[in-house]
Amino acid sequence: MPANHESNHRPVVVVGAGLAGLACAAILVARGRQVTLVGPPGDAGDTRTTALLDGSVQALAKAGITLAGHAEAAPLRVMSIVDATQRLLRARPVAFDASEIGLEAFGWNIPNGMLTQILRQRLEAVGVEQWPVKVLAAEPGADGLVLKLEGQPDLTADLIVAADGRNSLLRQAAGIETRQHDYPQVALALNLRIGRPHRDISTEFHTEFGPFTLVPLPGLRASLVWVVSPEKADELRGMDDAALSRAIEIQSHALLGHVQVDSRRSFWPMGTVVATTQAGNRLALIGEAAHVLPPIGAQGFNLTLRDIVALANALEGVADTGDAAALEAYAKARRLDIGTRHSAVDLLNRSLLSGQFALQGARGLGLYALERIGPLRRAMMRQGLARAAEH
Ligand SMILES: Cc1cc2nc3c(=O)[nH]c(=O)nc-3n(C[C@H](O)[C@H](O)[C@H](O)COP(=O)(O)OP(=O)(O)OC[C@H]3O[C@@H](n4cnc5c(N)ncnc54)[C@H](O)[C@@H]3O)c2cc1C
Repeated sequence: MPANHESNHRPVVVVGAGLAGLACAAILVARGRQVTLVGPPGDAGDTRTTALLDGSVQALAKAGITLAGHAEAAPLRVMSIVDATQRLLRARPVAFDASEIGLEAFGWNIPNGMLTQILRQRLEAVGVEQWPVKVLAAEPGADGLVLKLEGQPDLTADLIVAADGRNSLLRQAAGIETRQHDYPQVALALNLRIGRPHRDISTEFHTEFGPFTLVPLPGLRASLVWVVSPEKADELRGMDDAALSRAIEIQSHALLGHVQVDSRRSFWPMGTVVATTQAGNRLALIGEAAHVLPPIGAQGFNLTLRDIVALANALEGVADTGDAAALEAYAKARRLDIGTRHSAVDLLNRSLLSGQFALQGARGLGLYALERIGPLRRAMMRQGLARAAEH
């Protein structure tokens, strides 16, 4: 933090030091921008993992951050979907292999704690200015938001990037509305020791209450995201580790042999929040400040990295980082991608929850088509699983 507070105006200020803010600072600096990161360090006890798809891994590699082959990251070579519903219209299991589209892996799964550490080290290495304080208030002015900081004079910038999460103070201060929807579901996230090798296969069991997804970690370990009803979440919360491990083993049809809970558990209410626009007056929204999706199909942070690359692209060659036309171009560039991912996740989730025959049938048919039709499979894999951020 600078000792001299006389000129508290910066070219780019990123607010929020979670995964989105850290990655944004690293990528914008790599594109030649001078960036200041504001926000207290993120949750050190986050035991979740992030499945980063190939395009995201590449975008980070371009900013000098190597995840492929990292000792704590596991490759995702095969993605398998198993219809574990008890319904009449059940689809056959489908598996997608990264080699079918010429990739070594669809992506890499890495603990959030390690990813945070890698990003922080990068910011230290490139000398990004960091202010580990909270923004207490943001006041709209003619030249964008004025940030009121904890124990510091006000801060202004040519461009402020809001990476301050789902309840974004900056989004609210700028008067940007959101569309929100809550699902009657809760996601349980934890890590497991497993009894049988996962063979780099990520498996998503579709159940009537939502997906149950096992994702490889290095060695005999895997991460789990289990989407259940609120009542079931209460039941799981009340179990000790041994009972919960047994419940997981049964739900996974003992696919990975004997499993043992190996981390803290965290429970996440399922819902969506989508901002009506990702740009304001000298303001850009990224990450969960712009879009919260349920943890299905590893979309959240992968979408965020595409936000960041799109923002960097929109600012390419632009002298004033807060240029209204550039920010409008950014918002426009992100609309379709966010809309499509939101609809896809929503449709999949509703088709699982729905008692409607037609919706279940459509999901079954979709999976059937993906299993049988080669070009459709490969197109889906490229778009859905391995889509590259447009560098
Ligand atoms: C169970 C689960 C599993 C997931 N798995 C995946 C996955 O496999 N792949 C994937 O791509 N995505 C996944 N996601 C999504 C991903 O975790 C999120 O997109 C990502 O963590 C959100 O990052 P963020 O930085 O936008 O928000 P946050 O993590 O909420 O960070 C916001 C930051 O802003 C700070 N902040 C807030 N207010 C202020 C303020 N006033 N002043 C200063 N700082 C402030 C906070 O302290 C925090 O550090 C998953 C999500 C869940 C819930």
